[in-house]
Amino acid sequence: MSQLLEVSGVSVSFDGFKAINNLSFSIGPAEMRAIIGPNGAGKTTFMDIVTGKTKPDEGSVLWGDMSKNLIGMNEAKIARIGIGRKFQRPTVFEDQSVFENLLMAVKNDRSPWSVLFFKPKFKDLAKVEALASEIGLSDQLERKSGELSHGQKQWLEIGMLLAQDPQLLLVDEPAAGMTLGEREHTTDILKEAAKTRAVVVVEHDMDFVRRLECKVTVLHEGSVLAEGSLDHVTQNKDVIDVYLGR
Ligand code: ADP
Repeated sequence: MSQLLEVSGVSVSFDGFKAINNLSFSIGPAEMRAIIGPNGAGKTTFMDIVTGKTKPDEGSVLWGDMSKNLIGMNEAKIARIGIGRKFQRPTVFEDQSVFENLLMAVKNDRSPWSVLFFKPKFKDLAKVEALASEIGLSDQLERKSGELSHGQKQWLEIGMLLAQDPQLLLVDEPAAGMTLGEREHTTDILKEAAKTRAVVVVEHDMDFVRRLECKVTVLHEGSVLAEGSLDHVTQNKDVIDVYLGR
């Protein structure tokens, strides 16, 4: 299968400490992938590298038809070529409604006044409605985002990222702070999103990872320790040792 993202031999050190150490793995075009690993394994640094926030010392991150190397591209350009990142804390506009937040994202214009002053185009409204339905907030469109539950804010932010039609969505610990019901809905949203794009989820919660029903990559000390189904990796002796701190 051709790949969407291919990380090869990537290393980065901070003050002589190798946070990412000869990391290599790849993600397919409409693939869901979970990345797990103990604290300090390099999960955040990996996402920082892919999104252009951190420049590695060595290696390449090839993208799309593999003719583009993301290393050296700035964050804005990487976002434009189709990589969206959801941080752990939602960053929606709390004073604006769900509708207004989604419309701003669809129009890719983050200034509320310019978005709301002009009458929205039919195609933008249709996209807002489709996104609201995808994230399960169709009945909340008029609500101020600040009044939403934690889970609903997370879904709204996922919807705002999907509005940009990313080919790869990186999601950092989506289950944190969510109720069981919210987690289940989040899994549904991410699975639906992964039908048409790659979705990479960094997550500690193993029940959540299990529900994603996807290939799992285990990072440890900045490298891939194991890869495969969740059952496969959790039976791996090296993974058990790392998680139990042996
Ligand atoms: P994870 O997300 O898996 O918990 P991180 O990618 O945050 O791991 O960190 C990997 C290692 O790199 C950790 O030991 C962390 O302390 C170190 N590290 C990450 N970013 C920096 C930085 N900017 N300066 C110094 N050390 C860092």
